[in-house]
Amino acid sequence: MKKLTLIPGDGIGQEVVLGTKQIIDSLGLNIQWDIVTNPMNDKKRISEELEKSLSITKVGLKGPLTTPIGDGFRSINVEIRKRFELFANVRPIKTLQGFKTNYKDLDMIIIRENTEDLYAGKELEIAKGVTQSMKIVTTAASDRVAKFAFQYALENKRKKITVLHKANIMKLTDGLFLDRVRRISRRKIYKDIEYEELIIDNACMQLVMNPNRFDIILTGNLFGDIVSDLCAGLVGGLGAASGANLGSNYAVFEPVHGTAPDIAGKGIANPLATILSSIMMLNHIGMKDGAIKLNKAVLYTLSFPENRMRDMGGKLKTKDFINRIISNIKD
Ligand code: ATP
Repeated sequence: MKKLTLIPGDGIGQEVVLGTKQIIDSLGLNIQWDIVTNPMNDKKRISEELEKSLSITKVGLKGPLTTPIGDGFRSINVEIRKRFELFANVRPIKTLQGFKTNYKDLDMIIIRENTEDLYAGKELEIAKGVTQSMKIVTTAASDRVAKFAFQYALENKRKKITVLHKANIMKLTDGLFLDRVRRISRRKIYKDIEYEELIIDNACMQLVMNPNRFDIILTGNLFGDIVSDLCAGLVGGLGAASGANLGSNYAVFEPVHGTAPDIAGKGIANPLATILSSIMMLNHIGMKDGAIKLNKAVLYTLSFPENRMRDMGGKLKTKDFINRIISNIKD
């Protein structure tokens, strides 16, 4: 029996995460869920409930948690990634049947450094009306995410890694990141993986003009955040953008999208991003057969034009979409 942490989260998280749980339960795998309803305590920090759960299970499926923009506490999502040293954020970008897109057959992976950069949260007001934000880049964090990316490429038979940076302006911080990635790229075992460097602004243009030229994208925390949404847009939006936060000891799987307050509670949120994240999770914990079965059911469901949700140009509700996937799970 495998015990996993489930964090339904806020907004549409409740709908898409609990729906995904229903699907996984119907697979008949030997999984027991530890449901964490309060991942955050009164001080807006990681709760004891979540600490305890993840310290036992090591692996979780998580919905989005509310992040106020501007004033208020810093993101709990970011804090979870830091606390559990989930240093590599892996976001597959793949064309799926049913989503309207301008491009065909996209298949790339974004690997985002998850623990530092401008997300270090070191902001201060140095004088009235003058604020400062500190970008932190270290050799250790750059090395570990670079090694992760090249190892990932090797194990998943990927051909090319493109590192996105702004080292022409941020010569020290992005310069260090680039230097460390470059060193790792020169290792003999990675000789068959093509290595490329692109300045972020140029990369954005190329992503829009010719996204098929990319295979694995490796970048820092802030560029990774922005480019992830851009790439989600290339394959039809946030509805299908899945993700994994991976570290040496823990792993938390979550969709790229946020709490979507504009559609929360309406029963129209697309659960696909969370379902695809859960497939990554099943693979991660070694339940490969379950992952294959669920993936087949998802692709089969998407092959019918009537199985389209609102963000795919259809009218299907979250619950109905989930039920159709469950009914398409075959042994
Ligand atoms: P947060 O502050 O939590 O990041 P947000 O609304 O700023 O929330 P997202 O939640 O990522 O950011 O939503 C951006 C847009 O994409 C919204 O219009 C939302 O309705 C839409 N969206 C996000 N996720 C989904 C989904 N799963 N299904 C359908 N539409 C979605």
